[in-house]
Amino acid sequence: MMSSMDLTFLGTASAYPSPTRGVSCTALKHEDGSIWLFDCGEGSQIQLMRSLLKASKVNKIFITHLHGDHMFGLPGLMCTVSQNNQKTGQLELYGPHGLRRFIRCSLQLSRSELTYNYVVHELQVVEEQLPAEWNTWTVNHDAEGSLHPNEHPGQQISPDEKGVWNLIEDDRFVVKAVWLKHRIPSFGFCVEEKPTQGKLNDAMLRSMGVPPGPLYGKIKSGETIMSPTGEEVRPEDVLGPPRPGRKVIIMGDTADSSQLMSVGLNADVLVHEATLENELLAQALQNGHSTPEMAAVLGKSLNVGKLVLTHYSQRYKPLGAVTEKDDKSVSVLLEQAEAVLGKGKVICAEDFLTIPIPPRKA
Ligand SMILES: [Zn+2]
Ligand SMILES: [Zn+2]
Repeated sequence: MMSSMDLTFLGTASAYPSPTRGVSCTALKHEDGSIWLFDCGEGSQIQLMRSLLKASKVNKIFITHLHGDHMFGLPGLMCTVSQNNQKTGQLELYGPHGLRRFIRCSLQLSRSELTYNYVVHELQVVEEQLPAEWNTWTVNHDAEGSLHPNEHPGQQISPDEKGVWNLIEDDRFVVKAVWLKHRIPSFGFCVEEKPTQGKLNDAMLRSMGVPPGPLYGKIKSGETIMSPTGEEVRPEDVLGPPRPGRKVIIMGDTADSSQLMSVGLNADVLVHEATLENELLAQALQNGHSTPEMAAVLGKSLNVGKLVLTHYSQRYKPLGAVTEKDDKSVSVLLEQAEAVLGKGKVICAEDFLTIPIPPRKA
């Protein structure tokens, strides 16, 4: 049975996990049941186990940037899936230059062999992403030496002339990335579903004497056929309008998301960080982060269907978890984003919240 496409938030805190929140990890479940993870902060494997999702269904992991709250959970998750012998098929990882080295070192030094193979595709970073002090601490980002026994060689992906990293294009999806401004190179990912073919007009075909079967298949593949009565049947006459694909954007940490304007228009869902409230704008920018207003202004320019806020500072308690008089909850952030986008357009993510992304109308 086909299930729906949905997003599940497995961690919504910034910086470090706490008893009430995990750190960044968002699962996009496709209609065929496969799961793509976006970020994998420390403890993400436990969050996955506590959710209704199956870790063995994860076949792609996208890492927005190399801060620990977005990737310290990777080696552990990769090993656990292997130990339980749950996973078959290759795991594909995408992330900034340096991700391959991190994974290879972690798995090699711990002499962790896996029951499945993996490949790391790296996004080459560009000048615009680098903070001013980048070169004051020289770090080797290259994965050197031999591959891990389960590792297959991956690609190095550079941006095209429009400044877009083209990561995946298959018969169902196009996945792109754009750069974000943060304290280290960071990316936002845009997942676009390709349009799906319209429905065959069964009644019309029957009235023309075309029986279900191989002829239906030919029409679906774009062929003009002859009906048994000698009538020409063109695909455009008997196929309904195609259903437009959905677009989902999942951002990394960012103090400047303007690059998204080139790929993110009319997204169904934009997942954007809102680490600190509007009043702490200066601090947010200094730390490479966004406020609800920044996220909402971007969401408005992109004409998104829904803006989902996440990656909260630990000072904002989950809704309903405010106990002390001075405690603040994420409702502060929600209201600030709603002030720009209006009520009903903004969702504050909480751990284990699932948001369905319904198919678009044809
Ligand atoms: Zn972060
Ligand atoms: Zn960060």
